[in-house]
Amino acid sequence: MTFRRLNKSWGMAKSPKIGEVRFRWTRDIPGKLKNATIGLDPLGWHVSFATEQEIEVVARVGPAVGVDCGVVEPVAYSDGTFAAFPKERVRALERRTRQAARGLARCRKGSNRRKVAKARVAALRARMARVRKHFNHVETARLARAFGVVCLEALRIGNMTATAKGTVEEPGKNVAQKAGLNRSILEIGWYQFHRFLAYKMAAAGGEIRLVSAAHTSTTCSCCGTNDKTNRKSQAVYECAGCGSAMNADTNAAVNILLAGTRPAKAKRPRAASRRASRLEASAQAA
Ligand SMILES: [Zn+2]
Repeated sequence: MTFRRLNKSWGMAKSPKIGEVRFRWTRDIPGKLKNATIGLDPLGWHVSFATEQEIEVVARVGPAVGVDCGVVEPVAYSDGTFAAFPKERVRALERRTRQAARGLARCRKGSNRRKVAKARVAALRARMARVRKHFNHVETARLARAFGVVCLEALRIGNMTATAKGTVEEPGKNVAQKAGLNRSILEIGWYQFHRFLAYKMAAAGGEIRLVSAAHTSTTCSCCGTNDKTNRKSQAVYECAGCGSAMNADTNAAVNILLAGTRPAKAKRPRAASRRASRLEASAQAA
């Protein structure tokens, strides 16, 4: 496949099988073209070019930051700031998707109307995914520019998004809280966030450090007291020990930063193996 630029906003791709196709030129294509893919998704046809480019990676010493995938704020930082996740936009799209899904349910099976309704639901879902992806790209690029070290909780998505309902004999704990947490994780696509951040940090000469998620939300980042009851609500952490009050997601982000930047000596291997066995236990339960 070859391609050329027609003008500011259009390009032309030429493929031996399908011939010439005009496409919207949405961004620069740097480096040497390796291959191109044409694909159809619920939003329409897309062409993507994979290129290869030599980049010089210089190890960089930059400030460190802790990132928490919060319950109230989708992404909280240890410096007290929050990522500008387009919550309202995603909520509006969710609402429209629910409406469209209801419309779909009312359609007779095999009808043309149903086909149209189905495409509408799929397009809305694809748009939500695109909003998330855009956010993840922009936010991780910003982190890679601004920081040398980014500390995050090690991913346990498979474990965390597993339903908390349990069984009739053994009902799960904290069903509602867990459902809320799941929503928030899925809302920003935490796995994608990790993936984008990992390669962008590597390209910028920075580093990501994964820390254990244990106790990051219940420990006081000021004095180190670990007490579940200090978390007064989803939003607020109030330490009974030292009296400090802060945003609960920010508190967790600071704990993650502390865990990631602590000297290696302080890391206890025991904690890791304990976690591993717990994971194993929950895997058996599932
Ligand atoms: Zn405290």
